[in-house]
Amino acid sequence: MLNIVLMGPPGAGKGTQAKRIVASYNIPHISTGDMFREAIKAQTPLGKLAQSYIEKGHLVPDDVTIGLVKERLSQPDCANGYLLDGFPRTIPQAEALEILSKEINRPVTHVVDIEVEKQELIRRISGRRVCKCCGAPYHIVTMKPAKDGICNICGGDLIQRKDDNEEALNIRLDHYVKDTKPLLDFYQKKNLLHTFDGTVGADELLNELKKLFKEN
Ligand code: AMP
Repeated sequence: MLNIVLMGPPGAGKGTQAKRIVASYNIPHISTGDMFREAIKAQTPLGKLAQSYIEKGHLVPDDVTIGLVKERLSQPDCANGYLLDGFPRTIPQAEALEILSKEINRPVTHVVDIEVEKQELIRRISGRRVCKCCGAPYHIVTMKPAKDGICNICGGDLIQRKDDNEEALNIRLDHYVKDTKPLLDFYQKKNLLHTFDGTVGADELLNELKKLFKEN
């Protein structure tokens, strides 16, 4: 049973690994960041509310985020496990997840923390581009698309996320240290935490993760 929480600072590679893990294990990928971005694109009331926080690099308020995840986890496709990417990010969110995951009989089994140092995060995020249509990630130096500005997978335009600028990134990194890092201790005490070096390359990291999921 894999009920996974994926943690790490912005730019650690959570989204990239998440896509690979769910493809290997056939569990739903629940990314609160992606859900907010979709709501922003559709300009729903949730999207309009989230937009003001996200574009500045701030966290969306806990009650809103927890409500969104509660609804998502109650969908039938989570009955055989799930991968949460970017949730929880605060202690109140982690406490809410304890309750929600027990309600659906799927308590968290693995917390994966991907560690990358600050200078490397800044380098990765400042060069990051994403597909406007399918969200696939690229980097202007290290993960170039075959054709400049065009997604290899779906042919969509590549764009820079509005919160991938220096000012918003500094705020996001501050939130990570202040609000999210305390969760490492929270999950360590529950013996759920597994920490990985996020600079080893995506393939090697996926292999290490597969070993972990096999062991448990
Ligand atoms: P991400 O794609 O995970 O980097 O998330 C992008 C942005 O969405 C974050 O910088 C936050 O503004 C917002 N966000 C995503 N997940 C959460 C969360 N669990 N709690 C609060 N805000 C979130």
